[in-house]
Amino acid sequence: MTIEVLYQIYLKHPKVSTDSRKIAVGGLFFALKGPNFNGNTFAEQALREGAEYAIIDEDEYMHNERYLLVEDVLTALQQLGTYHREQSGAKIIALTGSNGKTTTKELIHSVLAQKYNTIATRGNLNNHIGVPLTLLTIRKDTEIAVIEMGANHQKEIEFLSQLALPDHGYITNFGKAHLEGFGGVEGVIKGKSELFQHLISHEKHIFWNADDPIQAEKLKNYPNKTGFSKGNIANYQILFLSADPYVKLQTEQTEINTNLPGAYNFTNAAIAVVIGLYLKVPLVKIKAGIEAYRPENNRSQILNKKGLEIYLDAYNANPSSMKAAIEAFDKIPAKSKTVLLGDMFELGDEAPMEHQAIADLTANLSFDGLYFVGKNFSRVKTDGNTFSSFEDFSDYLKEHPLEKGAVLIKGSRGMALERILDIL
Ligand code: ATP
Ligand code: MG
Repeated sequence: MTIEVLYQIYLKHPKVSTDSRKIAVGGLFFALKGPNFNGNTFAEQALREGAEYAIIDEDEYMHNERYLLVEDVLTALQQLGTYHREQSGAKIIALTGSNGKTTTKELIHSVLAQKYNTIATRGNLNNHIGVPLTLLTIRKDTEIAVIEMGANHQKEIEFLSQLALPDHGYITNFGKAHLEGFGGVEGVIKGKSELFQHLISHEKHIFWNADDPIQAEKLKNYPNKTGFSKGNIANYQILFLSADPYVKLQTEQTEINTNLPGAYNFTNAAIAVVIGLYLKVPLVKIKAGIEAYRPENNRSQILNKKGLEIYLDAYNANPSSMKAAIEAFDKIPAKSKTVLLGDMFELGDEAPMEHQAIADLTANLSFDGLYFVGKNFSRVKTDGNTFSSFEDFSDYLKEHPLEKGAVLIKGSRGMALERILDIL
């Protein structure tokens, strides 16, 4: 089956699913393969549960005309996404970077939706499957699509750029995330910059943070860009006012009060302002869009429970975001402050050094309580209570409840530190 034929079918049935547990009724089911499953074996079930067609790549699973045979299901999904993107009139804004992609994507979406028909990546669907799935949610009336691109190794962002063919792009930052797969910080810079390379070679437009020295260096000879700076070196001057605890910023006489704690969220909000201004969204609406956004899914959330003010940032962690979160927490006003950290993953050989650096950072700030959970932290020298497993920590907490006051909770996804909320 050719992509053109598949596309005609998609246009009549534009809902797409890849998970047999969440079938899009009346849509297309793409029978993807994973390390431990073969989607072809779910095709029959998908049709039974309401999918109109199942796209498969093994002919033995083909029983009637509602099975569409392609050479490779993943490639077909990707090609279909790109084909659809090429037919659509929507402008594509692509985002990558080490930290803050989802937050920034949501802020940009919230701003642009004030004026335009806008779609964005749902949740964190930012990889070689998520990007085509996002492209396939573009509708006839979609004016702008904001697309998150994640990566943990070289050439991935280049590949995702070729799928999405962005008109504009932004890199949130270059940090210490996925160091193992990228090959150190230099590798991260190279890997994330593939988005800049793609945009530059296609003469597309770049949004940038002019105060980031790496971005400044990479873009110094490229004129087609729009950015912000605390000073007056870029198109828009955006000032950081405060973060106590929520980030407040200012541009042209307008103050914007975000619902995002932590100074590191300043750049995330600032670029949403820039993109709004560039695309002629009135500043009052930009303000409304940013102020309407509240973080979710354990990202930079503040919760109150059992007399504790919990800064729940348990969604993910890496050395850069950990450092940013600890430094931000250090600056908030609170009588008593407890820091509760879980291991950071995907650091390879750098793991001992990076965990030691975080332990040292916390030791040098004046927190009232320090807790470390995980095998990595238990191998380094800390100034607090260290537990090699969540279970050990949980047993300890039952005997020794946390002191009243503010608590920062942060760790890698695999640590799932939000479980602490159930045992406080
Ligand atoms: P992922 O790689 O999982 O997709 P992401 O890049 O989409 O992550 P977010 O989900 O927006 O990032 O944020 C995850 C965490 O990263 C936040 O909870 C916060 O601790 C941290 N973070 C967000 N923005 C920044 C930033 N600009 N600089 C440093 N850390 C940040
Ligand atoms: Mg994300």
